Amino acid sequence: MLKAHQAQVASTIKFSWVDGPGNRYVLFLQGCNFNCLACHNPQTIPLHTPRANEMTVQEVLEEIRGSMPYISGVTVSGGEATVQHEFVLDLFKEIKSRKEFKGLSTFIDSNGNAPQEVWNQLAPFTDGVMLDLKALDDAKHIELTGNSNAVVLDSIRYLDSITKLHEVRLLLVPGHNDSDKELIDTAVWLRGINPEMRITINAFKTHGVRALARQWPEVSDADLARYKEIVN
Ligand code: SF4
Repeated sequence: MLKAHQAQVASTIKFSWVDGPGNRYVLFLQGCNFNCLACHNPQTIPLHTPRANEMTVQEVLEEIRGSMPYISGVTVSGGEATVQHEFVLDLFKEIKSRKEFKGLSTFIDSNGNAPQEVWNQLAPFTDGVMLDLKALDDAKHIELTGNSNAVVLDSIRYLDSITKLHEVRLLLVPGHNDSDKELIDTAVWLRGINPEMRITINAFKTHGVRALARQWPEVSDADLARYKEIVN
């Protein structure tokens, strides 16, 4: 059991343009409840590892303070951010209550595998969630992540209903989850929940993945153009 106000941290980035809207401080927490074949950071999957740093909320706030002149918000990513949701809650409460952090937005980058009660705790202090959907088809999802997508789909529906879903991101792997049918079904399902849903595409790259996925083809420009045409 982790002590309150303390997290297992994989790494931090002081300024990032690719982890949510604007320029952001990013905290990558250790630990994930999926085991994706296409994971680019498999070293972040175990919660406890000698590579992790332990950080208190105060230590993270100190780093954010140093980035303040350059950032518009804070993103907590992973691993899976909600595995250490109590820490995220403590951190976001501090950011939202202190005058010195006024104006900073708080985002979570998630695989969506968290129950509604966790989202209910985080929602009052979270401006948006960027959520990955690895596959709409459950058998395919289990093949790609080792887990059912039932909770992920519930999270998408729920976060959209409380206007906290910033975007859904599709990690597309050629030959694994990128057929026209899969893409059409996914876009129809997402837009059935919210016609304005923001859907972004992450193209699979072999960089950092484990041995099996290193043999998989990367997304080509033609693949990407097809994905965008179907999804948008
Ligand atoms: S959800 Fe993300 S961090 Fe977790 S195993 Fe999958 S790709 Fe890796």
